Amino acid sequence: MNIIENPWRKLSVRMRLTVWYSTVLSLTLLALGVFLYLFLSHNLHQEIDQSVANQANQVVRSITVVGEFPFPLSQVILPNVDVFASPDTYLQVVNDHGEILARSNNLGNQVLPLSRQTLLYAVKGKGFYETIEAGDQRLRTFNLPLTYRDQIIGILQVGRSLVPVDRALGRLSFVLFTGGLVTVLLTGMLGWFLAGMALRPIDRLIQAAADIQEARDLQSRIHYEGPADEIGELTATINDMLARLHGAYQSLEEGIATQKRFVSDASHELRTPLTTIRGNIELLQKMGDIDPEARREVLADIAGETERMTRLVNDLLALARADAGFKITKATLSLQEFLADLYRQVRLIPGQATFRGMDPAEVKGIQVTANPDYLKQLFLIIIDNAFKYTPAGGRVWLDTRQKPGFIGITVHDTGTGIAPEDIPKIFRRFYRADRARVGSGTGLGLAIANRIVEQHGGELEVESSPGVGSAFTVWLPNVFLA
Ligand code: ADP
Repeated sequence: MNIIENPWRKLSVRMRLTVWYSTVLSLTLLALGVFLYLFLSHNLHQEIDQSVANQANQVVRSITVVGEFPFPLSQVILPNVDVFASPDTYLQVVNDHGEILARSNNLGNQVLPLSRQTLLYAVKGKGFYETIEAGDQRLRTFNLPLTYRDQIIGILQVGRSLVPVDRALGRLSFVLFTGGLVTVLLTGMLGWFLAGMALRPIDRLIQAAADIQEARDLQSRIHYEGPADEIGELTATINDMLARLHGAYQSLEEGIATQKRFVSDASHELRTPLTTIRGNIELLQKMGDIDPEARREVLADIAGETERMTRLVNDLLALARADAGFKITKATLSLQEFLADLYRQVRLIPGQATFRGMDPAEVKGIQVTANPDYLKQLFLIIIDNAFKYTPAGGRVWLDTRQKPGFIGITVHDTGTGIAPEDIPKIFRRFYRADRARVGSGTGLGLAIANRIVEQHGGELEVESSPGVGSAFTVWLPNVFLA
C-alpha cells in the first residue's frame, strides 16, 4: 500500500509548535477583532439612529399650527430647521408629493434624496430609518411623517452622515488587522525562539547520541547538566541503555574470543596425537615386517594415541554441548544408591594409590536432584585426577560434609597437590599445571566437571597444598531426607 506522506509530519517539532500556537493566537485575535468590530459598529449605528430620531422629535415638537384645514401646510409654521442642524446632521421637510418645503443650510445646494418608495412608505404614517447615498457620502436618515389631524402634511427627513462612523470603523479595522498581524508575527518569533530554547537540550542529546554512534564508542556517556526533568530522565535512560549495550557487547566479544581460543586449542590438541599416529604409520611402512617386537610397540603407540584422541573428542563434545546450552534432565536421586554404583566404576580406574570410599550407609536417606549419568561423569573425572596425581603408596578417599541447603561430597588424595597460583586456573579449558608429569590428561576434565556442577546448581571447591594432597568438594543443592 502506498502511504501518502503527510508533509506536516516532516516539519520539525519546533516548527510545528510555532505554527500551532501562531494559528491558535491568530484565530483568537480574529474572533476578538470581529466581535469588537461588530459590537462597536452596532453601538455607533444605534447611537446615530437615536440621535436622528431625537432630532426629528424635537423638530416635531416645535411645529406650530396657525390655521385650520383645508390648507394645512400653509398654516403650519415650520421651525427654522437650521436650529436643529449640526455639521453632521441635515434636515429637510418635503410635502407628500416630494416637493421640498424646507431644508437646513448645511445641505448647501444638495437635497436629501427621497425615493418614491420612501414617500409611499412615509405616507402610511410611521417613522422609519433608511441608509442612503447622498453625493459622495452615506447618510442615515429618519423619515418622520408630519400629521395634522390624522392627515399627513409632509415628511420630515433628519439625516446624519455616516462618514465619521465609517472612518472610525475603518480605522478600527486597520488597527485590529495590523495590530493582530504584528502580534501574531512577534509572538510567532518569540514562540520560535522559546521552542528552540526548550528543545535545545534535545538537540544536544541527539548530537551526543549521533557522536557516540559515529565513533562507535559504547563507553562514552551523554553529559547532562540540568534539572532532573524529562530531558534528564531521557539522558539517564539512554546512558543506562549504553551501559547495558556495552556490557552485552563486551561479554559477546569475550565469548567470541573464548570460542576462538577453544577452537585453536582443540585443533592443536588433536594435531599432536595425529602427528604421532602418522609418524608411527610411516615408521611401520619403512620397517616392513622385519621386527615383530618393534612393530607391536608402534601399534601399541598408535592404539594409545587413538584412545587419547577418542577421549579428547568425547570431552570436546561434552563441552560443546554444555556451551550450546544443552539442558540436562534431572531426577531425584538417592545418594546411597548413587555412591554404591560409583564405587563399582572406580574400581576400574587405573592407579597406584589405595581407595577408600565412605560407607554409602553414611548418606542413607539423603537425596539430590541430579542427572545420574552426568553426576557419575563428574565424580569419575575428579577421582580419576586424584589417582592420576597420587603416586604409589598414596591414598584416595571420600567423605561428606553439610551446610544449609547443600550436601558436599569430598574426594581427598595425598597426591602432588596444586600450587596456590594454579588453583584458579585448573578449571580453564586445556589448562594443565604440569604437562610433563602425566601424559594421559586432556586438560578438559575439570572444565567439564565445573560445567556439570553448574548445571546442577552446585559448586566445586578445591583445597590443596603441594606435596600434601588435594580435596575437591562437590556441593549439591536440594538436599532432603527421605
Ligand atoms: P587433566 O586432563 O590434565 O587432568 P583436568 O582439567 O582434569 O585436566 O585438570 C587440570 C589440571 O589440574 C591438571 O593438569 C592438574 O595439573 C591439576 N589437577 C587436577 N586434579 C588434581 C589433583 N587431584 N591433584 C593435583 N593436581 C590436580
